[in-house]
Amino acid sequence: MCGIASFTFRCQAPNREHLIVNVHRFGVRHRIVKGNPMESCAHIEAVSTVTPAKHHECEECVKIGSNWVHLRTCQTCGVTLCCDSSRNRHATKHARATSHPVIASAEPGERWLYCYPDDAFVEY
Ligand SMILES: [Zn+2]
Ligand SMILES: [Zn+2]
Ligand SMILES: [Zn+2]
Repeated sequence: MCGIASFTFRCQAPNREHLIVNVHRFGVRHRIVKGNPMESCAHIEAVSTVTPAKHHECEECVKIGSNWVHLRTCQTCGVTLCCDSSRNRHATKHARATSHPVIASAEPGERWLYCYPDDAFVEY
């Protein structure tokens, strides 16, 4: 599984129906797949522009010569790290170690944000 255990998009399709929440940032509808749709997540709300991956690789895995499954980009500092399907789970470790709350998928064609503290998942 990727991300937090029960969350994932590619690895495990969300089984809850998409709930349309807000129409404003990113020019499209936010759809909260997980979390309480009536309570918006301040962390994701604070992201005005999604930071893309600088390099399509996990910086930490590259350092140790490991590999990864999917990539996520921290929206606080811009580091790109691997998801929880990857053996090193660097994105989650980074979020826990730094309290950087929001990651974006760095996978081509995937447009979503995930907030760790709120367990909120938003497509954009
Ligand atoms: Zn949040
Ligand atoms: Zn990694
Ligand atoms: Zn970060």
